[in-house]
Order: sequence, then structure tokens, then C-alpha cells
Amino acid sequence: MYLAFGCLSLLVSVYLALAASLYQAESISTAAALARAEITLGCLIYPTGIWFFSLYAGLVHWRRWVIAAVVIFTPMLLINLGSPYSMLYTGITMRPPLVLPWGESVHDFAGTEAPVLTGLYYAAVDASFLWAVCCCVLLWRHGRGARVWSLTLYLILQATASVHAEMVNYHGGRGLTFDSLAFLALVLLMSGVLRRELQRRNQALAVSLDELRSETLRREGVEADLRHLAYHDHLTGLPNRHFMHERLQAALASTEQVDGALILFDLDHFKTINEALGHDVGDELLKGVATRISEAAPPGACVARLGGDEFALHLQPLIDNNESPAQAALRITQEITARLTAPLRIGNHDLVVGVSAGIAPLPGTARDVDSVLRQVDMALYRAKAAGRHTAVVFESEMQAQADRRLLLEKGLRLALDRGEFEVHYQPQLDMQGRFVGAEALLRWRHPEHGLIDPDEFIPIAEETGLIHRIGRDVLQQACLELETWPAAHAKARISINVSPWQLFTQDFVHTLQETVASTQADPRRITLEITENAFLHDLDDAASKIRALEAAGFQFSLDDFGSGYTSLESLKKLPVSELKIDRTFIEGLHLGSHDRFIEAMIAIAHHLKMSVVAEGVETEEQRTALAGLGCNAIQGYLVSPALPSAAFHSWLERLAG
Ligand code: C2E
Ligand code: CA
Ligand code: CA
Repeated sequence: MYLAFGCLSLLVSVYLALAASLYQAESISTAAALARAEITLGCLIYPTGIWFFSLYAGLVHWRRWVIAAVVIFTPMLLINLGSPYSMLYTGITMRPPLVLPWGESVHDFAGTEAPVLTGLYYAAVDASFLWAVCCCVLLWRHGRGARVWSLTLYLILQATASVHAEMVNYHGGRGLTFDSLAFLALVLLMSGVLRRELQRRNQALAVSLDELRSETLRREGVEADLRHLAYHDHLTGLPNRHFMHERLQAALASTEQVDGALILFDLDHFKTINEALGHDVGDELLKGVATRISEAAPPGACVARLGGDEFALHLQPLIDNNESPAQAALRITQEITARLTAPLRIGNHDLVVGVSAGIAPLPGTARDVDSVLRQVDMALYRAKAAGRHTAVVFESEMQAQADRRLLLEKGLRLALDRGEFEVHYQPQLDMQGRFVGAEALLRWRHPEHGLIDPDEFIPIAEETGLIHRIGRDVLQQACLELETWPAAHAKARISINVSPWQLFTQDFVHTLQETVASTQADPRRITLEITENAFLHDLDDAASKIRALEAAGFQFSLDDFGSGYTSLESLKKLPVSELKIDRTFIEGLHLGSHDRFIEAMIAIAHHLKMSVVAEGVETEEQRTALAGLGCNAIQGYLVSPALPSAAFHSWLERLAG
């Protein structure tokens, strides 16, 4: 529309300039040229006017009107260019000068009209004019008059000027006419209107711009909130795992190899606090821990909560001239754990939490964040295995062990299906050398790594939950084995190791009863060996299960006695009929002299009506000493190592023979 208006304004100004120059023309030929140029412009002005008008009025089919105007006026324009005196005249004569009202005298020309072409031209002009009038009327009727009031005013002015020109013509054509000037009115009027329109648009644009700006600010705020949510822990407000991951990534990607460390803290037995005191207390404890670590962290360090009760501290740079980075990290860790273990008041509780920590020095051997996290996890695992409440720095040999562990973990799943487990039997003799029973000990014959000790794979089986299937398997095999023993040993017992995890399960009692029923084993010949750890979790639950099985005929033995933390009080509560003295005590047995400690253990056991089995007996001296102390039975390499079923049978035959 603005382009159309620009073209129209340009054409009108040239047209008016030509109209004015006609009064200055000195000769007929100049007047003829000017008249021709004026009509040429007329042929251009009307289509351009229609173009502008239809766009301004917002006509839907504006293109059609413009094309119609071009089709009508173009032939006339061509004819006009080919006519010597313009298409309107066949000749032009000069008239006496015209004296204007203010006394100025100007040239005046009269043309001899070409009736047909003049008629055609004015018919087209009038049609354009009428079209504009019709458009205005229609728009006014459709309530859009406000848009076209300026055009309406122009049309009235144009009509008035045209009528005036007709009157002047009627009176001999001598006098001033203003019909051409109506164009000027159109241009001026529309300039004003469009200017205001543009101003309004500018204002609207400024408002939209402001709105856009505030919307952008709002969005930025929301994005910042979302980013904060995505990178922070909602409970403690600390950065989260995501944040730590990116920070470590940036540190690893940095070309400057600055000394640093990643420390992973894990609260000991947090689950117990959560379960015993409720999640609200647990949450408050986590917040308290978060505050303490943040306060104790050196400047520039980043503290994050990785999830659950795991907190990470990234120290980089770690500058200390007197100690190595690992030493510095360990010192800082110890300072923090010392702070953390001070009692924390939450509600009515004074809570003391133990903390285990793993430390991975940076830049270490790890090249990516996942490896760093794995290293620090390994160190933490070690700290926990070492009895918790301690800090361990990652060392590369841990990686090899972790790799082996992973290998075993994977292999363990397949081992059951592939039948790689074997149960071996280690005999037990009484002090007179009579066979009284055997302990079933599990072996894993790995296709690549050979025989693997249960000490290595049982903890993995316990952690992965595979111990339940493995335990059932051992139970089954041991029960079947019992039935194969010669009738001479009809009273001999088989001892089966039971992991605390097996004892914790609800269906433990049921599984055992079902197994003895299906294998037709006599439960009175089965001793279940349990360790003291089985009572740490829930002494009463364990005791009730043991009682239920005792009622069914099973007997229980307390394994590895002396290496754990069983209190004498709980020992009294437990319906256990046998006590196994741990190998470590037998190793330290002072040869030839009475070991007071073992003597005390045996005395307590006998006092509680328990029999005593010493395990790990390797020498005759140890056996004699134990006999002197009143021990009831021995098990160990002195008698025999654990043997596969067939070898065990041969051993029994040799004993009888
Ligand atoms: P444990 O119950 O204390 O078993 C005794 C361990 O001492 C056995 O090791 C046995 O081979 C070893 N031993 C026996 N006599 C001697 C000796 O004179 N000298 C020395 N140095 N060692 C001796 P093993 O078979 O490697 O078993 C290790 C542990 O694995 C067992 O300790 C037991 O806690 C666990 N375990 C073994 N089989 C099973 C099982 O079927 N289920 C469960 N849950 N644990 C098992
Ligand atoms: Ca045992
Ligand atoms: Ca033992």
C-alpha cells in the first residue's frame, strides 16, 4: 500500500508540475508536448490510484480491479503517445494571454477535441471516479466508513472541482480550474492519514516490543528456575549429581592438569535411622549433614548430594606444599568426618552418624567422569568393608579387584544354570577320633579361573541376592548326600552354612521343611551354621525362626564364634546347641599351655548346654590342647580338608578300615 501511495504521490506531483508548466509554454509545439505528457500521466495516475485505493480500503479482490484499470488505460496511453497533440486533441491553438485575478498574465491554449478518444478517456476517468464512489458507499454501509473518510472527502472535493471546471468550460473555458488540484488534496489528505496510521502502528509496535521484552525476562526467569531445579537437590538445596557430573567433565576436559580430588561420603546405617525414626527425621538429618559438609568444605570446593545419603565434594585445585594431594584430600576428609560425627540435634533426638568416605585423586588414571565416579565408589566400598566410619583413597589395584569382582558377579549368574557349583564335605571327629559329622562347603569350579573360594564369591552372591538360589541348592545337595552315608554313620550329622540373608527371608522355615520333605532327609541330623551377623538385624525374628526349626528337629550352630560381637546376653537367648570356635583362635592356641580365652569360651558353652567344635585344627598339638580344654569335636586339615563327595566316601571307608 505504501509503495502504491509513493508511486501515486510521485505521479501526481509530476502531473501538477506539467499542468503548471502549460501556462508557461511559449509555443504550440511545447503546449502539445506538455498536453501529451499530462494525459500520459493521467493514464498512469488512475490505475495507480485504483491500486492504492483498493489496498487502502482493504478490498479482497484488489488485484482484479488493478488489472481492469491497467487493461483500460494502457491502450489509451499508447494511443496518446502516438498522437501529436495528445489523444484528446486534433490541434491546439494559442489564445490571448489569460490574466489571473492577482494580475499575472499566463499563456492560454485551446484544443480542438477529438470527440471519440476524448469521450473514451473521460468515460474511463469517470468510471474510475464512480468505482471509487461505489467502494466508499459500500464501505460506509458496512460500517467501515472511518477507514475511508479521507477518500470520501477527496471524492467530494474532486466532484466539486470537476463541476467547477465544467462550468468554466461552459462559459468559454476562460478562467482558472482546480480539478487537477484535487489530486493534490488527495495526496496531502492521505499523507496526513497515513502518517497518523504509521504513528499508531509505531506505538503499538513499541507496546508489543515492551511486552516481548517482559515476556523474554519472564521466560529467562522460568528457565533459570528450571535450570536450578535440574541441577540442584530439592531437599538440601545443594547441587545434584547432574551438576557434579558437568563440573567434573569440565575439570577433566581442562588442559591445565591441576591437582584435585573427588570425595564421596556415605552415612553409615542411614537406612536404620530412616526406618526407626521416620523419613522426616531422616530428611532433617540429611539437611544437617549437607550444612556441615558445606561449612567445612574449603573455599572453591563444590559440595553436591548425589542421591540418598551420598554426598560428594570436589576439591580442585588442591594446593598444599607440605603434603601430597592424596594426603591433603585425606586430611580434609578426616576433618569433615570429625565434624559430621558430632551429635546432631533433630527434634528430640541427638543423632550420631558414622560416615564412610572414598577419595579419588585427580587427575588420576580415569579419563572420563564415569570412571572417576567408579574409582571413588570403589574406595568408598573399601571404606565400608573395612568396618565403616573410615576414609580410603583409591589405588589402582582396587580397579583390578573390582574388575575381577565384576567378572565373578557376571559369572555367578550363569554358574547355577551351568552346574559349576560343587559341594565338598569336611569331616568332624570327636576327641576319641570317632566320625561325628561333616560340614558342607561350597566350591565354584569356574571354567576359566579354576576353583574359586567361597570367601570370594559368597559376599557377591549375598549382595546380588543370588545367595537364596545358591543356598537352596546347597541345602538340597547336602540333604541328598546325607542319605548316601553308610549305615554305620546313621547318627552322624551334616552341617550346612546359612547366610544371614537366607535367615532374614520370610519363607526360610518353609524352604527348609520343604527340602527335607522332598529329599526325605532327617532334620535331626542337620545342623545349620549361622554367624553372629544373623542376629544384628533382628534378634527376636531370628530367634523365633530358629525355635520353629528346632521344633522340627533341626539343630543350630554358632559359627566363627569369637570373631563377631555377640553379647553373652544374646547368646543366652538363642536356642543354639553348638558353638564353633573360629580358626583364628585355634591358630593362636599356645601350644602345651592352657589358653585361658578358649577355656572360657568352652566353659560358657558348656554352661549354656552347648557342645563345642574347634575348626581349623591343623596339628596334633592343637588337638591335644583342645582335648585338655574339654572341646567336644574338631574339624581341620589334621583330619582332612573338605573333599568332593566321592573322595569323602573313600575317606569314610579308610576310617572304618
Ligand atoms: P567357615 O564356615 O568358617 O568354613 C570353614 C572354612 O575353613 C572353610 O573354608 C574350610 O575349608 C576352612 N578350613 C577347614 N579346616 C582348615 C584348616 O585346618 N586350616 C585352614 N587354614 N582352613 C581350614 P572355605 O571352604 O573356603 O569356606 C569359607 C567360608 O565360606 C566358610 O567359612 C563359610 O562361611 C562360607 N561358605 C562355605 N560354603 C558355604 C555355603 O554353602 N553357604 C554359605 N552361606 N557360606 C558358605
Ligand atoms: Ca561354617
Ligand atoms: Ca567357621
